[in-house]
Amino acid sequence: MTDPAERWVYGYDNSRRHHPPDAVVYATSHEQVAGVVRACNEHEVALVARGRGTNTTGAAVPVRGGVVLSFERMDRIVALDPENRALRAEPGALNQAVQDAAAGHGLFWPPDPTSAAYCTVGGNIALNAGGPRALKYGATRENVLGLSAVTGAGATIRTGVYTTKGVVGYDLTRLIIGAEGTLAVVTEATLKLTPLPEARRTLQAVYGGVRAAAAAVTRIMAQPVTPCALEFMDGAAIEMIRDHSKAELPRGAGALLLIEVDGQEAGMGAAVAAVSKAARGDGLLDLVAAATDAEAAALWATRRALSPALRTIAPNKLNEDVVVPVSRIPDLIAGLDALSREYGIPIVNFGHAGNGNI
Ligand SMILES: Cc1cc2nc3c(=O)[nH]c(=O)nc-3n(C[C@H](O)[C@H](O)[C@H](O)COP(=O)(O)OP(=O)(O)OC[C@H]3O[C@@H](n4cnc5c(N)ncnc54)[C@H](O)[C@@H]3O)c2cc1C
Repeated sequence: MTDPAERWVYGYDNSRRHHPPDAVVYATSHEQVAGVVRACNEHEVALVARGRGTNTTGAAVPVRGGVVLSFERMDRIVALDPENRALRAEPGALNQAVQDAAAGHGLFWPPDPTSAAYCTVGGNIALNAGGPRALKYGATRENVLGLSAVTGAGATIRTGVYTTKGVVGYDLTRLIIGAEGTLAVVTEATLKLTPLPEARRTLQAVYGGVRAAAAAVTRIMAQPVTPCALEFMDGAAIEMIRDHSKAELPRGAGALLLIEVDGQEAGMGAAVAAVSKAARGDGLLDLVAAATDAEAAALWATRRALSPALRTIAPNKLNEDVVVPVSRIPDLIAGLDALSREYGIPIVNFGHAGNGNI
């Protein structure tokens, strides 16, 4: 497709950078992908693979023009094999479509970026996407068994295994995952599924300050019940989201943790008790467990609304996505507060605190 108006929209992703491609190709098969890659290689034309353009880093913007290879027409779930907890999907399949198909068999695919409803398996693989659940279940790299792909020279490769044990040889699957499409274009993935937990419980812990919340994160991660989510918001984030939230948000709080545990229904009481014990400590102002699914959903809706709300309030916001050892979270926030004061720039902090990702 070379129509200028149509091409224009393929010059964007969620980063707000823009550069139109010279052409857009809608592949429908592995062979077509291989043909396009070979042609681009031969004629030295830049090639950028594209899922749904939801990444926020400009990774899908064709900054040198050339060809955008769109996977929106390669979106099939090829096979679902509940007995072996595996699902084969084309790269354009939406993360949510995978979750829906797997859920019918009591399974799920752990990568859960907040963009799950709109982003593709191919994009998740290229970015090694994760989300709150990565804390317990790993990100994309830990949840893919194998790939079919086309190298930059146009050669077809198949990596990985179909079994949950695969210890022999170079691990090209892990190398390609997170390579942002620079090593190969993925044309099919075998995803490793996990049984859906029987039950989950959500807790909200409010602290007087960031240091107290960070100390709680360290304690929670040092006890045996690993939460399936451990999310953090600082006081500025709580104030910002208040008007966008249906949940009861504390006033004057310095930090908030959203903690979720999952597993068998029979074990939920003990799991909640264990994380509650770890969450308690100096600086804890309030600790409540969501009493109903609706209350838990409201807490999560608040967390998920943060990023979009921030964009509405501050259209020119800059995102930084950093990871530090959990024990250094207070130092990170203190440093950011100092920068905020020095330069007069408001900074709000939130993220996946369980692995130090703010
Ligand atoms: C509101 C919001 C919240 C988010 N939260 C998280 C989060 O918590 N954790 C997290 O990890 N991420 C998060 N993300 C980012 C998330 O990782 C991306 O949205 C998603 O992985 C990109 O998928 P996509 O289909 O839109 O890919 P695109 O944006 O189209 O492309 C992303 C990259 O993948 C490459 N690519 C696409 N398809 C292929 C292919 N078949 N072969 C090779 N390369 C390919 C592209 O070239 C590009 O480099 C969030 C995004 C949003 C908008």
